[in-house]
Amino acid sequence: MEPFKIKAVETIPVTSREQRQAALQEAGYNVFNLPSHLITVDLLTDSGTSAMSDQQWASLMQGDESYAGSRNYFRLEETVRRITGYRHVIPTHQGRMAENLLFTNLVKPYDHVPNNIHFDTTRANIEHNNGVAVNCVIDEAYDPVEEVPFKGNMDLHKLDRVLLEVGRERIPLVVLTITNNSGGGQPVSLQNASQVSDWCRRHDIPFFYDACRFAENAYFNKVRGNQSEGIAEIARAFFQLADGCTVSAKKDGLVNIGGFVALNDDDLAARLKNMLVMIEGFPTYGGLAGRDLEAMAQGLDEVLDERYLAHRIGQLQEFGQALCKAGIPIVKPVGGHAVYLDAKRFLPHLPQEQFPAQALTCALYLEGGVRGVEIGGLMFAADGEWPELELVRLAVPRRVYTRSHLEYVVEVCAQLYAQRESIRGLRITYEAPVLRHFTARLELV
Ligand SMILES: *Cc1c(COP(=O)(O)O)cnc(C)c1O
Repeated sequence: MEPFKIKAVETIPVTSREQRQAALQEAGYNVFNLPSHLITVDLLTDSGTSAMSDQQWASLMQGDESYAGSRNYFRLEETVRRITGYRHVIPTHQGRMAENLLFTNLVKPYDHVPNNIHFDTTRANIEHNNGVAVNCVIDEAYDPVEEVPFKGNMDLHKLDRVLLEVGRERIPLVVLTITNNSGGGQPVSLQNASQVSDWCRRHDIPFFYDACRFAENAYFNKVRGNQSEGIAEIARAFFQLADGCTVSAKKDGLVNIGGFVALNDDDLAARLKNMLVMIEGFPTYGGLAGRDLEAMAQGLDEVLDERYLAHRIGQLQEFGQALCKAGIPIVKPVGGHAVYLDAKRFLPHLPQEQFPAQALTCALYLEGGVRGVEIGGLMFAADGEWPELELVRLAVPRRVYTRSHLEYVVEVCAQLYAQRESIRGLRITYEAPVLRHFTARLELV
Protein backbone atom coordinates (compact mmCIF):
# COMPACT_ATOMS: atom_id res chain seq x y z
CA MET A 1 0.00 0.00 0.00
CA GLU A 2 1.00 3.63 -0.30
CA PRO A 3 3.30 4.49 2.64
CA PHE A 4 1.57 7.87 2.93
CA LYS A 5 -1.93 9.24 3.29
CA ILE A 6 -3.44 12.16 1.41
CA LYS A 7 -3.82 15.61 2.98
CA ALA A 8 -4.57 17.81 -0.03
CA VAL A 9 -6.41 16.68 -3.13
CA GLU A 10 -6.68 18.00 -6.67
CA THR A 11 -9.70 17.17 -8.80
CA ILE A 12 -8.81 15.47 -12.04
CA PRO A 13 -10.65 16.39 -15.23
CA VAL A 14 -13.12 14.02 -16.84
CA THR A 15 -13.91 14.70 -20.49
CA SER A 16 -16.22 13.27 -23.14
CA ARG A 17 -14.98 11.46 -26.21
CA GLU A 18 -16.28 14.34 -28.37
CA GLN A 19 -14.25 16.84 -26.32
CA ARG A 20 -11.12 14.74 -26.65
CA GLN A 21 -11.66 14.26 -30.38
CA ALA A 22 -11.93 18.03 -30.87
CA ALA A 23 -8.94 18.68 -28.59
CA LEU A 24 -6.77 16.20 -30.52
CA GLN A 25 -7.63 17.83 -33.83
CA GLU A 26 -6.98 21.27 -32.39
CA ALA A 27 -3.62 19.98 -31.08
CA GLY A 28 -2.60 18.64 -34.50
CA TYR A 29 -2.40 15.09 -33.10
CA ASN A 30 0.47 16.13 -30.85
CA VAL A 31 -0.19 15.66 -27.12
CA PHE A 32 2.37 18.35 -26.24
CA ASN A 33 -0.22 20.79 -27.59
CA LEU A 34 -3.01 19.59 -25.27
CA PRO A 35 -3.99 21.78 -22.32
CA SER A 36 -3.66 19.86 -19.05
CA HIS A 37 -7.24 20.65 -18.02
CA LEU A 38 -8.36 18.14 -20.66
CA ILE A 39 -6.14 15.30 -19.36
CA THR A 40 -7.48 12.69 -16.94
CA VAL A 41 -4.28 10.78 -16.10
CA ASP A 42 -1.09 12.59 -17.12
CA LEU A 43 1.85 10.25 -17.66
CA LEU A 44 3.80 12.62 -19.94
CA THR A 45 6.78 12.77 -17.57
CA ASP A 46 8.00 12.06 -14.04
CA SER A 47 10.07 15.26 -14.11
CA GLY A 48 8.94 18.08 -11.84
CA THR A 49 5.55 16.42 -11.39
CA SER A 50 6.08 14.94 -7.90
CA ALA A 51 3.73 15.63 -5.00
CA MET A 52 5.58 17.31 -2.13
CA SER A 53 5.16 16.08 1.43
CA ASP A 54 3.69 18.08 4.32
CA GLN A 55 7.28 18.57 5.55
CA GLN A 56 8.29 20.03 2.19
CA TRP A 57 5.32 22.38 2.10
CA ALA A 58 6.21 23.43 5.64
CA SER A 59 9.81 24.02 4.55
CA LEU A 60 8.58 26.59 2.02
CA MET A 61 7.61 28.80 4.98
CA GLN A 62 11.18 28.51 6.25
CA GLY A 63 12.65 30.13 3.17
CA ASP A 64 15.47 32.51 4.08
CA GLU A 65 15.53 34.83 1.09
CA SER A 66 18.90 36.43 1.82
CA TYR A 67 20.86 37.14 -1.33
CA ALA A 68 24.01 35.61 0.17
CA GLY A 69 24.52 33.00 2.87
CA SER A 70 20.89 31.80 3.14
CA ARG A 71 20.55 29.16 5.86
CA ASN A 72 18.57 27.02 3.37
CA TYR A 73 21.73 26.76 1.28
CA PHE A 74 23.69 25.45 4.25
CA ARG A 75 21.05 22.81 4.90
CA LEU A 76 21.17 21.75 1.23
CA GLU A 77 24.97 21.70 1.30
CA GLU A 78 24.98 19.55 4.45
CA THR A 79 22.39 17.18 2.97
CA VAL A 80 24.13 16.72 -0.39
CA ARG A 81 27.52 16.29 1.30
CA ARG A 82 26.09 13.64 3.61
CA ILE A 83 24.40 11.75 0.74
CA THR A 84 27.19 12.01 -1.85
CA GLY A 85 30.35 12.70 0.13
CA TYR A 86 31.31 15.42 -2.39
CA ARG A 87 32.81 18.64 -0.98
CA HIS A 88 31.36 21.33 -3.24
CA VAL A 89 27.61 21.75 -3.74
CA ILE A 90 26.48 24.15 -6.46
CA PRO A 91 22.70 24.68 -6.74
CA THR A 92 21.06 25.30 -10.13
CA HIS A 93 17.47 25.84 -11.23
CA GLN A 94 17.35 22.43 -12.91
CA GLY A 95 19.50 19.62 -14.29
CA ARG A 96 20.39 21.07 -17.68
CA MET A 97 21.98 24.13 -16.08
CA ALA A 98 24.17 21.82 -14.00
CA GLU A 99 25.17 20.13 -17.28
CA ASN A 100 25.77 23.45 -18.99
CA LEU A 101 28.17 24.53 -16.22
CA LEU A 102 30.07 21.24 -16.17
CA PHE A 103 30.37 20.66 -19.91
CA THR A 104 31.18 24.27 -20.80
CA ASN A 105 34.11 24.04 -18.40
CA LEU A 106 35.34 20.57 -19.42
CA VAL A 107 34.45 19.92 -23.06
CA LYS A 108 36.51 21.35 -25.93
CA PRO A 109 35.75 21.02 -29.68
CA TYR A 110 36.06 17.40 -30.96
CA ASP A 111 36.21 15.99 -27.42
CA HIS A 112 34.30 12.71 -26.98
CA VAL A 113 32.14 12.12 -23.91
CA PRO A 114 31.09 8.50 -23.30
CA ASN A 115 27.94 7.72 -21.29
CA ASN A 116 25.75 4.61 -21.03
CA ILE A 117 23.07 6.56 -22.96
CA HIS A 118 23.10 10.35 -23.06
CA PHE A 119 19.86 12.03 -22.05
CA ASP A 120 18.70 14.65 -24.67
CA THR A 121 19.82 17.68 -22.63
CA THR A 122 23.18 16.07 -21.82
CA ARG A 123 23.83 15.36 -25.48
CA ALA A 124 22.66 18.86 -26.46
CA ASN A 125 24.96 20.54 -23.92
CA ILE A 126 27.95 18.51 -25.15
CA GLU A 127 27.18 19.21 -28.80
CA HIS A 128 26.66 22.88 -28.02
CA ASN A 129 30.32 22.88 -26.93
CA ASN A 130 31.20 21.12 -30.23
CA GLY A 131 31.92 17.88 -28.43
CA VAL A 132 30.76 14.40 -29.45
CA ALA A 133 28.37 12.43 -27.23
CA VAL A 134 28.98 8.66 -27.45
CA ASN A 135 26.66 5.96 -26.10
CA CYS A 136 28.44 2.91 -24.64
CA VAL A 137 25.61 0.96 -23.00
CA ILE A 138 25.59 -2.87 -23.18
CA ASP A 139 23.95 -4.28 -26.35
CA GLU A 140 21.13 -5.88 -24.34
CA ALA A 141 19.77 -2.38 -23.63
CA TYR A 142 18.46 -2.23 -27.20
CA ASP A 143 16.55 -5.52 -26.95
CA PRO A 144 12.95 -4.86 -25.81
CA VAL A 145 12.25 -8.38 -24.54
CA GLU A 146 15.44 -9.73 -22.99
CA GLU A 147 15.20 -9.61 -19.18
CA VAL A 148 18.54 -8.43 -17.80
CA PRO A 149 18.61 -7.12 -14.20
CA PHE A 150 20.99 -4.19 -14.89
CA LYS A 151 20.21 -3.20 -18.46
CA GLY A 152 21.69 0.28 -17.90
CA ASN A 153 25.25 -1.01 -17.47
CA MET A 154 28.18 0.41 -19.43
CA ASP A 155 30.01 -1.85 -21.88
CA LEU A 156 33.70 -1.51 -20.95
CA HIS A 157 34.79 -2.77 -24.38
CA LYS A 158 32.94 0.13 -25.98
CA LEU A 159 34.83 2.51 -23.66
CA ASP A 160 38.10 0.89 -24.76
CA ARG A 161 37.09 1.41 -28.38
CA VAL A 162 36.42 5.14 -27.88
CA LEU A 163 39.79 5.48 -26.13
CA LEU A 164 41.55 3.67 -28.97
CA GLU A 165 39.86 5.82 -31.60
CA VAL A 166 40.33 9.29 -30.12
CA GLY A 167 42.99 8.97 -27.38
CA ARG A 168 42.95 9.98 -23.75
CA GLU A 169 43.41 13.74 -24.39
CA ARG A 170 40.10 13.81 -26.29
CA ILE A 171 38.06 12.31 -23.42
CA PRO A 172 37.55 15.07 -20.82
CA LEU A 173 35.22 12.94 -18.68
CA VAL A 174 33.09 9.80 -18.60
CA VAL A 175 29.44 10.05 -17.50
CA LEU A 176 27.22 7.27 -16.15
CA THR A 177 23.46 7.92 -16.02
CA ILE A 178 21.71 6.31 -13.03
CA THR A 179 19.11 5.08 -13.75
CA ASN A 180 19.50 5.13 -17.53
CA ASN A 181 16.56 7.34 -18.52
CA SER A 182 16.84 7.16 -22.31
CA GLY A 183 17.30 3.39 -22.09
CA GLY A 184 14.01 2.86 -20.24
CA GLY A 185 14.98 3.86 -16.69
CA GLN A 186 17.11 0.73 -16.38
CA PRO A 187 19.47 0.47 -13.40
CA VAL A 188 23.26 0.29 -13.30
CA SER A 189 24.89 -2.20 -10.92
CA LEU A 190 27.39 -1.18 -8.27
CA GLN A 191 29.85 -3.65 -9.75
CA ASN A 192 29.58 -2.03 -13.18
CA ALA A 193 29.98 1.48 -11.72
CA SER A 194 33.05 0.20 -9.91
CA GLN A 195 34.51 -1.14 -13.17
CA VAL A 196 33.86 2.18 -14.91
CA SER A 197 35.50 3.95 -11.98
CA ASP A 198 38.61 1.71 -12.19
CA TRP A 199 38.77 2.28 -15.93
CA CYS A 200 38.65 6.06 -15.44
CA ARG A 201 41.31 5.95 -12.67
CA ARG A 202 43.56 3.80 -14.85
CA HIS A 203 43.40 6.35 -17.66
CA ASP A 204 43.27 9.40 -15.38
CA ILE A 205 39.90 10.57 -16.76
CA PRO A 206 37.33 12.32 -14.50
CA PHE A 207 34.17 10.29 -13.79
CA PHE A 208 30.76 11.90 -13.16
CA TYR A 209 27.24 10.60 -12.67
CA ASP A 210 24.09 11.99 -14.21
CA ALA A 211 22.38 11.07 -10.94
CA CYS A 212 18.77 12.28 -11.29
CA ARG A 213 17.41 8.89 -10.12
CA PHE A 214 20.22 7.85 -7.75
CA ALA A 215 17.80 6.60 -5.06
CA GLU A 216 15.73 4.47 -7.47
CA ASN A 217 19.00 3.06 -8.80
CA ALA A 218 20.19 2.27 -5.26
CA TYR A 219 16.90 0.50 -4.53
CA PHE A 220 17.28 -1.70 -7.62
CA ASN A 221 20.75 -2.62 -6.38
CA LYS A 222 19.30 -3.55 -3.02
CA VAL A 223 16.64 -5.90 -4.43
CA ARG A 224 18.20 -7.15 -7.67
CA GLY A 225 21.77 -7.19 -6.39
CA ASN A 226 20.91 -8.63 -2.96
CA GLN A 227 22.72 -5.87 -1.09
CA SER A 228 22.22 -5.98 2.65
CA GLU A 229 23.09 -2.30 3.27
CA GLY A 230 20.49 0.45 3.51
CA ILE A 231 19.60 2.71 0.57
CA ALA A 232 21.73 5.61 1.85
CA GLU A 233 24.78 3.35 2.19
CA ILE A 234 24.33 1.92 -1.31
CA ALA A 235 23.90 5.39 -2.81
CA ARG A 236 27.00 6.54 -0.95
CA ALA A 237 28.97 3.56 -2.26
CA PHE A 238 28.09 4.65 -5.80
CA PHE A 239 29.02 8.29 -5.24
CA GLN A 240 32.36 7.35 -3.66
CA LEU A 241 33.43 5.78 -6.95
CA ALA A 242 33.22 9.06 -8.88
CA ASP A 243 34.50 12.63 -8.84
CA GLY A 244 31.10 14.30 -8.88
CA CYS A 245 27.58 14.40 -10.28
CA THR A 246 24.98 16.54 -11.99
CA VAL A 247 21.43 16.17 -10.70
CA SER A 248 17.97 17.32 -11.74
CA ALA A 249 16.11 17.38 -8.41
CA LYS A 250 12.84 17.30 -10.40
CA LYS A 251 13.11 13.50 -10.21
CA ASP A 252 14.47 11.94 -7.01
CA GLY A 253 14.71 15.35 -5.33
CA LEU A 254 10.89 15.20 -5.09
CA VAL A 255 10.52 18.87 -6.00
CA ASN A 256 8.92 20.72 -8.90
CA ILE A 257 12.05 22.73 -9.71
CA GLY A 258 15.73 22.47 -8.72
CA GLY A 259 19.06 20.80 -9.39
CA PHE A 260 22.75 20.85 -8.48
CA VAL A 261 26.31 19.91 -9.35
CA ALA A 262 28.37 18.30 -6.59
CA LEU A 263 32.08 17.59 -6.95
CA ASN A 264 35.43 17.30 -5.16
CA ASP A 265 37.85 19.19 -7.42
CA ASP A 266 38.49 22.62 -5.81
CA ASP A 267 39.77 24.28 -8.95
CA LEU A 268 36.92 23.05 -11.18
CA ALA A 269 34.36 23.98 -8.50
CA ALA A 270 35.75 27.53 -8.43
CA ARG A 271 35.38 27.80 -12.21
CA LEU A 272 31.80 26.49 -12.11
CA LYS A 273 30.89 28.97 -9.38
CA ASN A 274 32.36 31.88 -11.34
CA MET A 275 30.25 30.93 -14.32
CA LEU A 276 27.20 30.35 -12.09
CA VAL A 277 27.37 33.96 -10.89
CA MET A 278 27.34 35.15 -14.48
CA ILE A 279 24.48 33.07 -15.92
CA GLU A 280 22.41 31.71 -13.01
CA GLY A 281 22.91 33.38 -9.61
CA PHE A 282 25.08 33.75 -6.54
CA PRO A 283 26.56 30.40 -5.36
CA THR A 284 24.29 30.17 -2.29
CA TYR A 285 21.05 30.26 -4.30
CA GLY A 286 21.93 29.35 -7.89
CA GLY A 287 18.74 30.40 -9.65
CA LEU A 288 16.34 29.29 -6.93
CA ALA A 289 14.53 30.94 -4.03
CA GLY A 290 15.65 30.02 -0.51
CA ARG A 291 12.39 28.13 0.01
CA ASP A 292 13.10 25.97 -3.06
CA LEU A 293 16.52 25.03 -1.65
CA GLU A 294 14.88 23.99 1.64
CA ALA A 295 12.21 21.87 -0.12
CA MET A 296 14.92 20.23 -2.23
CA ALA A 297 17.04 19.35 0.83
CA GLN A 298 13.97 17.87 2.52
CA GLY A 299 13.04 15.90 -0.63
CA LEU A 300 16.54 14.44 -0.95
CA ASP A 301 16.25 13.09 2.58
CA GLU A 302 12.73 11.69 2.03
CA VAL A 303 13.62 9.87 -1.17
CA LEU A 304 16.07 7.59 0.65
CA ASP A 305 13.22 6.07 2.72
CA GLU A 306 13.11 2.42 1.77
CA ARG A 307 9.35 2.15 2.34
CA TYR A 308 8.79 4.97 -0.14
CA LEU A 309 11.09 3.35 -2.73
CA ALA A 310 9.51 -0.09 -2.28
CA HIS A 311 6.15 1.50 -3.06
CA ARG A 312 7.46 3.59 -5.94
CA ILE A 313 9.32 0.80 -7.72
CA GLY A 314 6.63 -1.72 -6.74
CA GLN A 315 3.93 0.49 -8.30
CA LEU A 316 5.81 0.51 -11.60
CA GLN A 317 6.39 -3.27 -11.54
CA GLU A 318 2.72 -3.90 -10.76
CA PHE A 319 1.65 -1.55 -13.56
CA GLY A 320 3.88 -3.45 -16.01
CA GLN A 321 2.64 -6.84 -14.83
CA ALA A 322 -1.01 -5.82 -15.23
CA LEU A 323 -0.35 -4.68 -18.81
CA CYS A 324 1.44 -7.96 -19.59
CA LYS A 325 -1.44 -9.92 -18.10
CA ALA A 326 -3.80 -8.10 -20.48
CA GLY A 327 -1.56 -9.28 -23.36
CA ILE A 328 -0.21 -5.81 -24.12
CA PRO A 329 3.36 -5.72 -25.49
CA ILE A 330 5.74 -3.69 -23.29
CA VAL A 331 9.50 -3.32 -22.94
CA LYS A 332 10.96 -5.65 -20.33
CA PRO A 333 12.06 -5.60 -17.61
CA VAL A 334 10.13 -2.59 -16.27
CA GLY A 335 12.51 0.17 -15.16
CA GLY A 336 12.21 2.67 -12.33
CA HIS A 337 10.04 5.51 -13.59
CA ALA A 338 8.02 4.43 -16.63
CA VAL A 339 6.44 1.61 -18.56
CA TYR A 340 7.02 1.59 -22.33
CA LEU A 341 4.41 0.24 -24.73
CA ASP A 342 5.94 -1.43 -27.79
CA ALA A 343 3.99 0.19 -30.63
CA LYS A 344 5.53 -1.96 -33.38
CA ARG A 345 4.05 -5.06 -31.76
CA PHE A 346 0.84 -3.25 -30.67
CA LEU A 347 0.11 -1.91 -34.17
CA PRO A 348 1.85 -4.26 -36.63
CA HIS A 349 -0.47 -3.08 -39.43
CA LEU A 350 1.06 0.43 -39.42
CA PRO A 351 4.30 1.03 -41.36
CA GLN A 352 6.91 3.05 -39.45
CA GLU A 353 6.41 5.97 -41.90
CA GLN A 354 2.94 6.38 -40.36
CA PHE A 355 4.34 6.91 -36.85
CA PRO A 356 2.81 3.94 -34.99
CA ALA A 357 3.98 5.16 -31.55
CA GLN A 358 2.51 8.62 -32.13
CA ALA A 359 -0.71 7.03 -33.43
CA LEU A 360 -0.90 4.93 -30.26
CA THR A 361 -0.18 7.96 -28.06
CA CYS A 362 -3.10 9.81 -29.68
CA ALA A 363 -5.38 6.76 -29.47
CA LEU A 364 -4.68 6.44 -25.72
CA TYR A 365 -5.74 10.03 -25.24
CA LEU A 366 -8.85 9.66 -27.39
CA GLU A 367 -9.88 6.44 -25.65
CA GLY A 368 -9.38 7.50 -22.03
CA GLY A 369 -7.84 10.96 -21.65
CA VAL A 370 -4.48 9.37 -20.79
CA ARG A 371 -1.37 11.28 -21.89
CA GLY A 372 1.87 9.42 -22.60
CA VAL A 373 4.68 10.44 -24.93
CA GLU A 374 5.99 9.07 -28.21
CA ILE A 375 9.59 7.87 -28.28
CA GLY A 376 10.01 6.77 -31.86
CA GLY A 377 10.14 8.07 -35.40
CA LEU A 378 8.59 11.46 -34.69
CA MET A 379 11.21 12.15 -32.02
CA PHE A 380 14.26 10.55 -33.65
CA ALA A 381 13.91 9.91 -37.40
CA ALA A 382 16.38 12.05 -39.34
CA ASP A 383 17.69 12.01 -42.92
CA GLY A 384 15.70 8.90 -43.85
CA GLU A 385 17.09 6.96 -40.85
CA TRP A 386 14.43 5.46 -38.57
CA PRO A 387 14.98 4.41 -34.97
CA GLU A 388 14.91 0.72 -34.09
CA LEU A 389 12.08 1.07 -31.58
CA GLU A 390 8.63 2.71 -31.65
CA LEU A 391 7.67 3.22 -28.01
CA VAL A 392 5.02 5.04 -26.00
CA ARG A 393 6.40 6.01 -22.60
CA LEU A 394 3.98 6.08 -19.68
CA ALA A 395 5.99 7.86 -16.96
CA VAL A 396 4.56 7.76 -13.46
CA PRO A 397 4.85 10.93 -11.33
CA ARG A 398 6.05 10.33 -7.75
CA ARG A 399 3.41 10.10 -4.97
CA VAL A 400 0.70 11.46 -7.30
CA TYR A 401 -1.40 8.58 -8.61
CA THR A 402 -2.78 5.61 -6.68
CA ARG A 403 -3.20 2.00 -7.73
CA SER A 404 -6.72 2.63 -9.07
CA HIS A 405 -5.52 5.40 -11.39
CA LEU A 406 -3.06 2.99 -12.94
CA GLU A 407 -5.69 0.23 -13.08
CA TYR A 408 -7.78 2.68 -15.09
CA VAL A 409 -4.86 3.20 -17.50
CA VAL A 410 -4.49 -0.57 -17.90
CA GLU A 411 -8.22 -0.79 -18.75
CA VAL A 412 -7.89 1.93 -21.36
CA CYS A 413 -4.88 0.12 -22.90
CA ALA A 414 -6.77 -3.18 -22.92
CA GLN A 415 -9.81 -1.62 -24.62
CA LEU A 416 -7.56 -0.13 -27.26
CA TYR A 417 -5.74 -3.40 -27.74
CA ALA A 418 -9.03 -5.16 -28.43
CA GLN A 419 -9.74 -2.74 -31.28
CA ARG A 420 -6.15 -2.11 -32.36
CA GLU A 421 -6.77 -2.77 -36.05
CA SER A 422 -9.02 0.30 -36.22
CA ILE A 423 -6.18 2.64 -35.13
CA ARG A 424 -5.04 4.74 -38.08
CA GLY A 425 -1.58 6.07 -38.89
CA LEU A 426 -0.50 9.71 -39.06
CA ARG A 427 1.38 12.00 -41.40
CA ILE A 428 3.19 15.26 -40.62
CA THR A 429 1.71 18.56 -41.83
CA TYR A 430 4.15 20.87 -40.01
CA GLU A 431 7.58 20.32 -38.48
CA ALA A 432 10.24 22.58 -36.99
CA PRO A 433 13.88 22.15 -38.09
CA VAL A 434 15.05 20.92 -34.63
CA LEU A 435 13.37 18.88 -31.85
CA ARG A 436 10.30 18.61 -34.09
CA HIS A 437 8.33 16.29 -31.78
CA PHE A 438 7.54 19.15 -29.38
CA THR A 439 5.73 21.31 -31.93
CA ALA A 440 4.95 19.10 -34.95
CA ARG A 441 1.39 18.98 -36.31
CA LEU A 442 -0.05 15.82 -37.87
CA GLU A 443 -3.22 14.46 -39.47
CA LEU A 444 -4.79 11.03 -39.86
CA VAL A 445 -3.74 9.03 -42.90
C1 LIG B 1 15.63 15.20 -16.53
C2 LIG B 1 16.99 14.75 -16.84
C3 LIG B 1 18.00 15.68 -17.12
C4 LIG B 1 17.75 17.17 -17.27
O1 LIG B 1 17.18 17.74 -16.16
P1 LIG B 1 16.16 18.99 -16.26
O2 LIG B 1 15.85 19.27 -14.83
O3 LIG B 1 14.98 18.55 -17.05
O4 LIG B 1 16.90 20.11 -16.89
C5 LIG B 1 19.27 15.19 -17.33
N1 LIG B 1 19.54 13.87 -17.30
C6 LIG B 1 18.59 12.95 -17.04
C7 LIG B 1 18.95 11.50 -16.98
C8 LIG B 1 17.29 13.36 -16.79
O5 LIG B 1 16.35 12.45 -16.54
